[in-house]
Amino acid sequence: MEIQLSNQKVLVTGGAGFIGSNLCEALLEKNNTVVCLDNFATGRKENLAAIVNNPNFTLITGDIRNLQDCLLATKGVDFVLHQAALGSVPRSIKDPITSNEVNVSGFLNMLVASRDNKVKRFVFAASSSTYGDSESLPKVEDVIGKPLSPYAVTKYVNELYADVFSKTYGLETIGLRYFNVFGRKQDPNGAYAAVIPKFVSQLMNLEAPTVNGDGNYSRDFTYIDNVIQANLLSLVADKTAVNTIYNVAYGDRNTLNDLLGYLKEFLAEFNPKIKDIEVIYGPNRLGDIPHSHASVDKAKELLKYDPQFSLQKGLKEAVEWYWKNL
Ligand code: NAD
Repeated sequence: MEIQLSNQKVLVTGGAGFIGSNLCEALLEKNNTVVCLDNFATGRKENLAAIVNNPNFTLITGDIRNLQDCLLATKGVDFVLHQAALGSVPRSIKDPITSNEVNVSGFLNMLVASRDNKVKRFVFAASSSTYGDSESLPKVEDVIGKPLSPYAVTKYVNELYADVFSKTYGLETIGLRYFNVFGRKQDPNGAYAAVIPKFVSQLMNLEAPTVNGDGNYSRDFTYIDNVIQANLLSLVADKTAVNTIYNVAYGDRNTLNDLLGYLKEFLAEFNPKIKDIEVIYGPNRLGDIPHSHASVDKAKELLKYDPQFSLQKGLKEAVEWYWKNL
């Protein structure tokens, strides 16, 4: 499916991060002009290495907590893909104030700046953490529980603010609730690294990965190219699809033990010793829900979302990338 989106000026906040930098590349490939606003809190210069000299790319080093930075970055922009935030549930448990300042106050600044600079559509990274303690599966957009972490509160507040800005100021918004995204350029290092790159890097170094819990928790692991597709579709979708929230996932669930099995199998093609690495099991982590599995019916119907990468297909690509790049 070819998405018709070219000659637009798009601001990607958090564009030096994992998802943001992949979005910048995808937009440039389609002959759009891209502005990236990032303060490099968790983003990395090397994520931008392939595009930093592209004449259609502008990097603004700035902070979404600063309204002036947001106003500068949204000037003359057609669309915003707002990705900047402090991710990670444990980070928000350790430091809820900073998570709130970036994820809530920064988000509000971006909405105000987008409104004032007459941005045509504001698409933002929401999160599956908004399902909180709801046990219903698969997750459908309208059935949410209570948040289980400060991070989840911030992401839910984003949805509420976006809704109010749509109704009050007529700003078109779309929130994409991402489910455990993985793929090229996701950072394997640091205390708050996501599970897939962390496991990949440990296995590549012949270290035993540690699982929180017994490995039977399950997730709807979502390959980055599915997420890129959902973002681009959100920019071209007609007006009947706006001012709402969509799950962005593959629409399946796999346990952490399944995940480790695939990782060992795929990485063993590069180093057969990896197959024999034992996994260590530790305690469950605070704020983690046991199972997560998205219904992607709404995105399929209204955005024409058609995810092409299952967990296994995405992992094969990701593992190959990490083997070449780590
Ligand atoms: P990331 O940490 O790689 O990217 C976030 C980017 O935002 C970084 O480049 C960081 O430097 C930037 N940033 C942070 N604070 C900022 C500030 N004050 N001003 C400007 N820039 C700032 O994380 P990611 O995985 O690419 O996540 C992108 C978005 O998707 C986030 O909003 C995150 O909450 C959301 N999300 C991610 C996942 C996932 O599985 N990765 C799941 C659900 C939601």
